Amino acid sequence: MPTLFAKIIRGEIPSDTVYQDDRVTAFRDINPAAPVHILIVPNKTIPTVNDLTEEDEALVGHMVLVAKKLAAQEQIEKNGYRLIINCNIHGGQEIFHLHIHLLGGKLLRRMVQKR
Ligand code: 5GP
Repeated sequence: MPTLFAKIIRGEIPSDTVYQDDRVTAFRDINPAAPVHILIVPNKTIPTVNDLTEEDEALVGHMVLVAKKLAAQEQIEKNGYRLIINCNIHGGQEIFHLHIHLLGGKLLRRMVQKR
Protein backbone atom coordinates (compact mmCIF):
# COMPACT_ATOMS: atom_id res chain seq x y z
CA MET A 1 0.00 0.00 0.00
CA PRO A 2 1.51 3.37 -0.95
CA THR A 3 1.71 5.83 1.91
CA LEU A 4 -0.20 9.11 1.88
CA PHE A 5 3.10 10.90 1.22
CA ALA A 6 3.95 8.52 -1.65
CA LYS A 7 0.65 9.52 -3.26
CA ILE A 8 1.48 13.22 -2.74
CA ILE A 9 4.94 12.70 -4.28
CA ARG A 10 3.36 11.05 -7.34
CA GLY A 11 0.83 13.87 -7.65
CA GLU A 12 -2.13 11.58 -6.93
CA ILE A 13 -3.12 13.74 -3.93
CA PRO A 14 -2.86 17.52 -4.27
CA SER A 15 -0.31 19.38 -2.16
CA ASP A 16 1.44 22.73 -2.02
CA THR A 17 4.77 21.40 -3.27
CA VAL A 18 7.66 23.82 -2.88
CA TYR A 19 10.54 21.63 -4.07
CA GLN A 20 11.10 18.35 -5.90
CA ASP A 21 14.11 16.53 -7.33
CA ASP A 22 14.97 12.90 -8.07
CA ARG A 23 15.48 12.09 -4.37
CA VAL A 24 13.17 14.27 -2.27
CA THR A 25 9.91 16.20 -2.37
CA ALA A 26 8.96 19.07 -0.05
CA PHE A 27 5.44 20.37 0.49
CA ARG A 28 3.62 22.54 3.03
CA ASP A 29 2.03 20.78 5.99
CA ILE A 30 -1.77 20.68 5.71
CA ASN A 31 -2.12 21.63 9.39
CA PRO A 32 0.77 24.06 9.99
CA ALA A 33 2.14 24.48 13.51
CA ALA A 34 4.03 27.67 12.53
CA PRO A 35 3.90 30.30 9.76
CA VAL A 36 6.41 28.16 7.84
CA HIS A 37 5.82 24.41 8.13
CA ILE A 38 7.26 22.33 5.32
CA LEU A 39 7.75 18.56 5.17
CA ILE A 40 10.86 17.24 3.41
CA VAL A 41 10.19 13.68 2.32
CA PRO A 42 12.35 11.09 0.50
CA ASN A 43 10.79 9.95 -2.78
CA LYS A 44 11.45 6.34 -1.79
CA THR A 45 9.33 5.12 1.09
CA ILE A 46 11.28 4.64 4.32
CA PRO A 47 8.80 4.21 7.21
CA THR A 48 10.84 5.52 10.16
CA VAL A 49 14.35 6.52 11.23
CA ASN A 50 14.66 2.92 12.51
CA ASP A 51 14.51 1.71 8.90
CA LEU A 52 17.44 3.82 7.68
CA THR A 53 20.54 1.95 6.51
CA GLU A 54 24.09 2.99 5.65
CA GLU A 55 22.90 3.29 2.04
CA ASP A 56 20.61 6.15 3.07
CA GLU A 57 23.37 8.26 4.58
CA ALA A 58 23.68 10.60 1.57
CA LEU A 59 19.90 10.80 1.20
CA VAL A 60 19.44 12.00 4.79
CA GLY A 61 22.22 14.55 4.30
CA HIS A 62 20.47 15.73 1.14
CA MET A 63 17.17 16.09 3.03
CA VAL A 64 18.87 18.37 5.58
CA LEU A 65 20.52 20.45 2.85
CA VAL A 66 17.15 20.84 1.09
CA ALA A 67 15.67 21.99 4.42
CA LYS A 68 18.46 24.56 4.72
CA LYS A 69 17.80 25.86 1.17
CA LEU A 70 14.07 26.07 1.82
CA ALA A 71 14.70 28.00 5.05
CA ALA A 72 16.65 30.55 2.99
CA GLN A 73 13.90 30.61 0.33
CA GLU A 74 11.31 31.26 3.05
CA GLN A 75 13.57 33.95 4.54
CA ILE A 76 13.62 32.39 8.00
CA GLU A 77 17.29 31.43 8.08
CA LYS A 78 18.47 34.54 9.96
CA ASN A 79 15.95 34.35 12.83
CA GLY A 80 16.23 30.58 12.86
CA TYR A 81 14.06 27.54 12.60
CA ARG A 82 13.66 23.99 13.85
CA LEU A 83 14.07 20.65 12.06
CA ILE A 84 12.16 17.73 13.59
CA ILE A 85 11.95 14.02 12.78
CA ASN A 86 9.37 12.12 14.82
CA CYS A 87 9.86 8.37 15.23
CA ASN A 88 7.17 5.87 16.18
CA ILE A 89 4.60 6.25 18.96
CA HIS A 90 6.61 7.99 21.67
CA GLY A 91 8.05 10.35 19.06
CA GLY A 92 4.54 11.30 17.96
CA GLN A 93 4.89 10.01 14.40
CA GLU A 94 1.57 9.87 12.53
CA ILE A 95 2.64 9.24 8.93
CA PHE A 96 4.95 6.27 8.49
CA HIS A 97 6.97 7.71 5.63
CA LEU A 98 10.14 9.41 6.87
CA HIS A 99 10.00 13.21 6.84
CA ILE A 100 11.74 16.24 8.29
CA HIS A 101 9.52 19.04 9.57
CA LEU A 102 10.92 22.51 8.80
CA LEU A 103 9.28 24.94 11.23
CA GLY A 104 9.83 28.68 11.54
CA GLY A 105 8.50 32.18 11.10
CA LYS A 106 7.85 32.70 14.81
CA LEU A 107 9.55 32.03 18.14
CA LEU A 108 9.01 28.34 18.82
CA ARG A 109 8.44 27.15 22.35
CA ARG A 110 10.42 24.33 23.88
CA MET A 111 9.12 21.02 22.53
CA VAL A 112 10.09 18.99 25.58
CA GLN A 113 9.83 20.35 29.09
CA LYS A 114 13.01 20.21 31.15
CA ARG A 115 12.61 18.53 34.53
P1 5GP B 1 4.29 13.25 11.92
O1 5GP B 1 3.38 13.38 13.11
O2 5GP B 1 4.14 11.92 11.25
O3 5GP B 1 5.71 13.59 12.22
O4 5GP B 1 3.83 14.37 10.90
C1 5GP B 1 2.86 14.17 9.92
C2 5GP B 1 2.48 15.52 9.38
O5 5GP B 1 1.78 15.33 8.16
C3 5GP B 1 1.53 16.30 10.31
O6 5GP B 1 2.13 17.53 10.69
C4 5GP B 1 0.27 16.50 9.46
O7 5GP B 1 -0.33 17.76 9.65
C5 5GP B 1 0.79 16.30 8.05
N1 5GP B 1 -0.21 15.80 7.12
C6 5GP B 1 -1.11 14.79 7.35
N2 5GP B 1 -1.85 14.57 6.26
C7 5GP B 1 -1.43 15.46 5.32
C8 5GP B 1 -1.83 15.72 3.97
O8 5GP B 1 -2.72 15.08 3.40
N3 5GP B 1 -1.17 16.72 3.30
C9 5GP B 1 -0.15 17.43 3.89
N4 5GP B 1 0.42 18.39 3.15
N5 5GP B 1 0.24 17.21 5.16
C10 5GP B 1 -0.38 16.23 5.86
